[in-house]
Amino acid sequence: MKSPLPTVEGQKSSGIPRVGITGGIGSGKSTVCRIFHEALSIPIFYADIWAKKLLNFDPDLREGIIGVFGPEAYTPDGEYNRPHVAKIAFSDPAKLAALNALVHPAMEAESLEWHHHQVELGFPYTLKEAALIVESGGHQYLDFLIVVTAPEDLRIQRVIQRDGVTEEQVQARMRGQLPEFDKLKLADFVIVNDGSEMLLPQIWAVHQEILKGPIEYG
Ligand code: ATP
Repeated sequence: MKSPLPTVEGQKSSGIPRVGITGGIGSGKSTVCRIFHEALSIPIFYADIWAKKLLNFDPDLREGIIGVFGPEAYTPDGEYNRPHVAKIAFSDPAKLAALNALVHPAMEAESLEWHHHQVELGFPYTLKEAALIVESGGHQYLDFLIVVTAPEDLRIQRVIQRDGVTEEQVQARMRGQLPEFDKLKLADFVIVNDGSEMLLPQIWAVHQEILKGPIEYG
């Protein structure tokens, strides 16, 4: 059974930090997470992968999505029909809000349940990687937020190379995200990934700080 949507007090009481990692498209979130995982054995919750899983396999979510987007939201063989949903959601703000109101709480509950499981396995903290942590409000449930930063032109070039898309396509994706500046304001830690500083020492320093535990305010 899924956990209820957590309160800030509720999720911080375990004392094992939940850490978010975000940044603009192409900033290097996945690259940084890979190092946290491979060098430091930290478990990573990749929001994109889990969202796909939930949209395909969570019956309550499926029912809600069909209620908003119709039966075509799933293909005849039962798979989530992302192009159909995206086409409607991105041309109708109320439908986009309804989609977010269904997906975000389901993802929050799932990631909290996953976090508790990792805590039981003995990990010192967990990382949740999501491009839209701040946009979805998910950062308020986390103990720390890491923002990976790189200049926009470098991010665009990386994504063009990685995905074989055009600059216009990358910029269209960027328009769906808050400017990096707004994320940096909320960051507990910033990892600079512009090629001027090595990643491993920065990651090691952040790791050491997280191990000290959540910051106590007041
Ligand atoms: P998205 O938001 O699209 O998921 P992301 O923030 O997870 O992207 P990555 O996929 O980690 O970004 O990085 C984008 C591309 O840039 C990848 O091809 C990655 O290999 C490359 N890259 C990231 N950081 C560096 C670096 N420091 N040096 C060289 N290449 C890098």
